[in-house]
Amino acid sequence: MTRILIIYTGGTIGMVNDAVTGVLTPFDFSQVINNVPELKRLNYQLTAHSFSPVLDSSNMNPEIWIKLAQQIEQHYHEFDGFVILHGSDTMAFTASALSFMLQGLAKPVVLTGSQLPIGEIRTDAKENLITALEIASAKKDGKPRVPEVCIYFDFQLYRGNRTIKYSSSTFEAFRSPNYPLLAEAGVHLRFYDASIRNAEARVFQVYKELEPSVAVLKLYPGINANTVQAIVASDARAIILETFGSGNAPTQKWFLDSLQTAIANGKTILNISQCKEGTVDLGRYDTSMELKEMGVVNGYDMTFEAAVTKLMFLLSKDIGNSQLHRLLETNLRGELSREHPVLV
Ligand code: ASP
Repeated sequence: MTRILIIYTGGTIGMVNDAVTGVLTPFDFSQVINNVPELKRLNYQLTAHSFSPVLDSSNMNPEIWIKLAQQIEQHYHEFDGFVILHGSDTMAFTASALSFMLQGLAKPVVLTGSQLPIGEIRTDAKENLITALEIASAKKDGKPRVPEVCIYFDFQLYRGNRTIKYSSSTFEAFRSPNYPLLAEAGVHLRFYDASIRNAEARVFQVYKELEPSVAVLKLYPGINANTVQAIVASDARAIILETFGSGNAPTQKWFLDSLQTAIANGKTILNISQCKEGTVDLGRYDTSMELKEMGVVNGYDMTFEAAVTKLMFLLSKDIGNSQLHRLLETNLRGELSREHPVLV
């Protein structure tokens, strides 16, 4: 019998309205289970671990990602797949972080949640949960069908580290603008094998260190020197520069000098675009040429969520800046549309 571990972290899926304030508040796992009698009809051996306390995912943090990765490591050989119930707000960050921490993954880790609590009549939670369980248990030729960290939501399966939360009000909460779907659920569950990562040949190894020394500089017309300075002179070891279009930034001297000084002081600057779709193309325009020349790292088509968590993952390693920059520009877990994955 297929064995699935459900890890319940919290999120809207299990929330109830507080009797006094009416505010949506996380509730324990019984709320989820009692509302889905269909689970008993699934022919799987389900085991559930619940966080205590359960979280609204806005309280998610790197320490909890480490605990999640540890739980998967501890039970990796006991289960065929893992389903993580998680609030949708930061689900794409958690999926991205886990993708980097779980090296050599050969089993499905499917994150899901819902836009409406499972106790509400129009809830999207039941379908999301039941199909996530089916995906986590799906096999082809005796092997897991989706051996990667992914998000299932509103009939679509996405690569976790390509996903962004797109909507707070429709059931289609997520999108993956730069990578195709891994599967779609209609009358049949249709897997798109060509988009799914092959199980890694490497042995399963869990990295349990993250260094959250990351700051973000999001550009906008009119940004001033004080604002830029406050961010580049902070104690963060790496700065995500959210640029315009294909990686473009102002060419004023004060701006370029601030970045150059930060790089000279050993900081890493990673360029990703504010556009959700497409890629950074350093040097395509005059407005990105100088960034390229001063050593700004190219984030290509990485999501913000993947950029943040990849930096936390790589900054925790004992490597110099040149290796750090090379790895940032390398496709490690399918987060970049670039060839040549390398070992870390
Ligand atoms: N605030 C909730 C959370 O992220 C939203 C959700 O679950 O969809 O925990």
